[in-house]
Amino acid sequence: MKTIYFDNNATTKMAEEVLEQMKPLFCELYGNPSSMHTFGGQIGIRIRQAREQVASLLGCEPSEIIFTSGGTESDNAAIKGALAAQPHRRKIITTRVEHPAVLTVCRELESHGYAVVELGVDKYGRLDLAELEEQIDDDTALVTIMYANNETGVMFPIDKITELTADRGVVFHTDGVQVVGKIPLNLARSNIDLLSLSGHKLHGPKGVGVLYVRKGTRMSPFIVGGHQEAGRRAGTENVPSIVGLGKACELAAGNIKQENDKVKYLRDKLEKAILEKCPDSMLNGDKENRLPNTANISFEYIEGEAILLMLDKYGICASSGSACTSGSLEPSHVLRAMGVPFTAAHGSIRFSLSRYNTEEEVDYTIEKMPPIVNHLRELSPFVAK
Ligand code: PLP
Repeated sequence: MKTIYFDNNATTKMAEEVLEQMKPLFCELYGNPSSMHTFGGQIGIRIRQAREQVASLLGCEPSEIIFTSGGTESDNAAIKGALAAQPHRRKIITTRVEHPAVLTVCRELESHGYAVVELGVDKYGRLDLAELEEQIDDDTALVTIMYANNETGVMFPIDKITELTADRGVVFHTDGVQVVGKIPLNLARSNIDLLSLSGHKLHGPKGVGVLYVRKGTRMSPFIVGGHQEAGRRAGTENVPSIVGLGKACELAAGNIKQENDKVKYLRDKLEKAILEKCPDSMLNGDKENRLPNTANISFEYIEGEAILLMLDKYGICASSGSACTSGSLEPSHVLRAMGVPFTAAHGSIRFSLSRYNTEEEVDYTIEKMPPIVNHLRELSPFVAK
């Protein structure tokens, strides 16, 4: 059975072109880039090229790129590094809908005495900028707010947010894991100080990422040891993955507009048909300010997990906003923060598309969804018979 992969916010298929670039770096060009000899030196050239490819996608200087082990490390490094560099300031502002790579770090810091403010969102997943403005004070060391939400695709108005932080001289970090490669960025023209990205979300390898650090940003290294990454992140570089990430960024930069148009067309077709053909279904999140690839849809009275299992039988991979599979009965913290009713939050499904999806796959899924939903509703104790 063919796999239809609509779970690209979880991870993406690595591009064949990326693999080709990585191959020689395992058994042929295996030198250490820090070595003095020519054999090692040629690896350093590959890393430099990857740094330029990433910088070109982000619209920043190569020297502002630090390679890390992924989105989670970049988020940890940004938050803890920014705080360590400003020990006199003790307040962090974030949102209730961040990825755990940010939220868990902030909550851990709170238990160590930091004041943490988690801003709420409205029913469309939008922030109240006046509340953010009110919260920024002289004790604020860092504002960390994601660029786009991984569950709903809702994008926050980062330009407006960073006007507020820049005005007050507060360091601003954004978890950009879900936007990089999907939305054109120009960091040189923005007020973003720190941005995290992850290789495996843009058709690159897993276990590699980047922390962008604007020149002059107050920041202490998170991992210390050797002098790699100009002393900003110690440890021998994961060369094949860094080179792969560079290639993934180059591919993304070359196609961002055409790909987004295609992905958005497919996502919109899928979303519209499902909402029309499945009664008591609704879209979660701001319809307009959203990633072009993500649709988060709730189906009243049925469990998201049950829908996923039935989709899986047809080879269709999506994901659910509920955490039942991990042993908890709590629905997603993002949908809860948006005030999505309990029954609807439990029945939510996220479809996230990529450049590799086809119209045929979308049509097939549109055909399968209504009978699945009808069948589960027939079994549901919550539906009046
Ligand atoms: N931040 C967001 C918004 C994510 O979606 C993810 C991955 O799901 C991460 C951070 C973590 O990235 P990584 O898997 O590279 O550690």
